[in-house]
Amino acid sequence: MIDLRSDTVTRPSDAMRDAARDAAVGDDVYREDPTVDELQERVADVLGTEAALFVPSGTMGNQVAGRTHTERGQEVLCERESHIYKWELAGLAQHAQVQPRTLDGDHRGVVAPEQVREGYVEADGHRAGTGLLTLENTHNSKGGTAIAPERIAETAAAAHDLGVPVHLDGARLFNAAAAHDVPAAEFVAPVDTVMCCLSKGLGAPVGSVLAGPDSFVEAARRNRKLLGGGMRQAGMIAAPGLEALDNRDRLTEDHRRAERLAAGLDRIDGLSVDAPETNIVIVETDRPAEAFLDDCAAAGVQGVPFDDHVVRFCTHWDVDDDDVDAAIAAVERAV
Ligand SMILES: *Cc1c(COP(=O)(O)O)cnc(C)c1O
Repeated sequence: MIDLRSDTVTRPSDAMRDAARDAAVGDDVYREDPTVDELQERVADVLGTEAALFVPSGTMGNQVAGRTHTERGQEVLCERESHIYKWELAGLAQHAQVQPRTLDGDHRGVVAPEQVREGYVEADGHRAGTGLLTLENTHNSKGGTAIAPERIAETAAAAHDLGVPVHLDGARLFNAAAAHDVPAAEFVAPVDTVMCCLSKGLGAPVGSVLAGPDSFVEAARRNRKLLGGGMRQAGMIAAPGLEALDNRDRLTEDHRRAERLAAGLDRIDGLSVDAPETNIVIVETDRPAEAFLDDCAAAGVQGVPFDDHVVRFCTHWDVDDDDVDAAIAAVERAV
């Protein structure tokens, strides 16, 4: 079976397993785990932030960010198809007790500065006020689109002009950096905080990082504890995360394979595929997505449904060129 459901299905490498076994550890709730410290410092360095906080999942990173940036009852501006709004169990409402106000990004998920100005609400005797803008890059639901740093910067500037902080959901930020061939820090410089997953294209078995200014990360640490994310000998999982950071350069391989997959699938009757920007391939099918995916699975390839007639395939480091060709052939048989 060729598993193209997500870039989270990868198994840890031998190097990651060795690193986990050999990691120096301590109790990280007491701030005594040197491997967690090392990971946090390395990530902060890569992202150009003052500090970073290791969290078990991207969802927790986003939720801690939402809670840390806002006060109860405020509004949060989110893109309508964004993960933090759509796929996190209404966590902003539950954990931060804020009211999301959605903005319609363009077909690539880009939110324009004007939309931020229109969506902004000033606090007064009747209105709660806007406490945060969230952006996402790459944009998952829009097909892994890699939004340029300049676009992030102009939208973030519009928020900052209104006194609103900006959190970037960069679950796949390193894919965006690879696609634009610029350092990840360029996407982070214009925003206040960022969350990055180590467990997606980078291949770590678990873990994400929330990064930003020292004072924010201190406050975030308390909120991580509140959500149950204080971890003990977490160096065991931070060590594979350090290994994963070295996989940033090979994301371009995933992107090249996604292009190959998209081109192959687009030639099949009844399927329509746009050229991917990163490692996510969005396929429109004549048939209902679920039935189409059942037949794909029977033919040996797995994807996930994204909409009634839309499915997602994702390339990752456990699939090579032969797997991509075999996946195309399998989908062809399924059709
Ligand atoms: C996967 C993902 C998350 C959540 O990460 P988990 O580790 O699965 O909780 C958040 N945002 C985006 C854009 C994602 O793709």
